[in-house]
Amino acid sequence: MLSRPERLLWVHGVRMPEHIDLEAIASAKGAHIVYRKLDGCAARLVATDDRAVISVAVDDNIGRRRFSLGHELAHWIQDAQRASFKCSSADIGPQNAEAKTIEADANNFASQLILPDYLVWPWVADRKPSLDLANAMGDAFQASLTASALKLLQRAQGAIAITCHDQRRLKWSRRSRNFSTDFYILNELHQDTIAFEMAFGAVKGLSRPKREGASRWISGPSTYRMEVWSQSIKLPEGSVLTMLSVI
Ligand SMILES: [Zn+2]
Repeated sequence: MLSRPERLLWVHGVRMPEHIDLEAIASAKGAHIVYRKLDGCAARLVATDDRAVISVAVDDNIGRRRFSLGHELAHWIQDAQRASFKCSSADIGPQNAEAKTIEADANNFASQLILPDYLVWPWVADRKPSLDLANAMGDAFQASLTASALKLLQRAQGAIAITCHDQRRLKWSRRSRNFSTDFYILNELHQDTIAFEMAFGAVKGLSRPKREGASRWISGPSTYRMEVWSQSIKLPEGSVLTMLSVI
């Protein structure tokens, strides 16, 4: 059974990733979109009875802009009181889809609109999760790498975590259902990891997967004799996203 955002795509004739035209859907729903400079927020919705204007920060990259647009569309289409919204970049993001708030609901809606299950899972087929695959998914669906990596986590069979660190600390992390809750993801990047070099140095791009001691990344029972595959990428805003797979 299709979710509400998927049904919306389906009735708009979306049968392939490149068919997802959020601007056309917004327009069909009476929402006009403006890309412009925004102060202190990533997107906003100004709603009247049956019309809306959605403003999206023009400086964000395409993945962010599409996610912001999907998020505001959620407020417009599904929120009961069609109020106006002003959403910060902290409110908008695929990593903030779990809490039970109106913002998290809008993030969930946006995630399904940009990476709908009925197109994503046939596209993934039996390929193993990696940041390379997330990168390819991001290209195919015009989604951010973060949104794509988190999507892969949803049906990952192995024990996989995605972490996002800045120079000082762990900003957020998510785990697949088989990643034990007995493990703690370390708050600080270990100095021998490529992620550390990315956070503090000039290393850019996507690293090759690396096999290393699990204790560089996680603590918990027996982690000192376990190993992980790690793969990292420096995000445009400067933090480092890593996919960890416990071996
Ligand atoms: Zn919002």
